[in-house]
Amino acid sequence: MMYSADYLFLGDGNLLKNASVKVNREGTILEILESSSNDESAIKIEGGISPSFINCHCHLELSHMHKKVEMHGGLHQFIPSLQSQRKVDQSTIDKAIQAWDQKMWENGISAVGDITNGLDSLPTKKSSKIHYHNFIELFGLREAKAEEIFEHGSGVLERFKSEGLSANLVPHSPYAVSDPLYKMIAEASRGKAISIHNQETKGERQMFEEAKGPLQEMLENFGNDPEEFAKEQSNSLLHALQFFPEDQKILLVHNTFSEAADLQAASNSHSNLYWCFCPQANWYIEKTLPNIPLFLEPGLKCTLGTDSLASNLELSILAEMKLIKSHYPEIKTNTLMQWACANGAEFFELDDLGKMEIGKKCGLNHISNLDSNGEITEDSAVSRII
Ligand SMILES: [Zn+2]
Repeated sequence: MMYSADYLFLGDGNLLKNASVKVNREGTILEILESSSNDESAIKIEGGISPSFINCHCHLELSHMHKKVEMHGGLHQFIPSLQSQRKVDQSTIDKAIQAWDQKMWENGISAVGDITNGLDSLPTKKSSKIHYHNFIELFGLREAKAEEIFEHGSGVLERFKSEGLSANLVPHSPYAVSDPLYKMIAEASRGKAISIHNQETKGERQMFEEAKGPLQEMLENFGNDPEEFAKEQSNSLLHALQFFPEDQKILLVHNTFSEAADLQAASNSHSNLYWCFCPQANWYIEKTLPNIPLFLEPGLKCTLGTDSLASNLELSILAEMKLIKSHYPEIKTNTLMQWACANGAEFFELDDLGKMEIGKKCGLNHISNLDSNGEITEDSAVSRII
């Protein structure tokens, strides 16, 4: 089958105008033509075609929390609200997971880095068309509990692995994990790609720099002893990074309050970092977006994620791109496509995905309603071609 489009986003930063792509029945790319096809049977697509997307950060098991948490309360209000409403009857949880797995596929997402705390999402993931990498996430600030938390997480990890699913252990964030637990996770995930929530709220910076603020108060309200979780390192990101070898592949998620000095310090300390943005969740929780233009420096690798439905109205990578574009119109759609496609596939080492290249089976998305320069607009929508 041959598809001709106004724009082909190849996913790796290359863009072709009035071009065509030919795929076989299995979806393998056979040919890319830098012109409209003369083939009369070619299907004309108005707008653009891209490879399918990689959602680098989601929490599928929280799908039943859709529209349950109030917007714009800040992370210190979001986390307690989430915890108090998390447990509902199993069939509600299961139905939401199944429905949103399907919805992500329809939204052109072929692979997901999914934060996982329990087993709820396992049955859906086993039969999904989407490839999931499961970040089995651990948290807990009480040092005496570290062993127990680690054992529990290792049990969840084994269940996923025994079903043939891709998984490894990761820490929640700089602020919610004790040093002994960090060390156990680092040991268990040596050589694996890991993920950490990073600088998601202003209070995270305040907690590390001044041992006060709303996040500090939230942790104390959860019954933690401030003496015990006092940190020596005054930068939350560097605190988390110190537990991992300098070449560990690490996805830093959110970066909402990251500053130029943080990027510099992290890049000096670690060589294999990926920066993941989930702008809709940042807007939902904090009503702010990261300073994304800071990350356009050469050498920094950015990716995109949706976060969970507890802090997003949809699970759509295109919707994340549209929000970035509405705040930072100078960032080219083609750049965002590279974050959504090749960079995500590279992070998860998914060789077939992320780039429109002969021999790859990357999936194809139709992106409609581009402007006359091939940029996404408010009205752009995504649908899966294959
Ligand atoms: Zn998250």
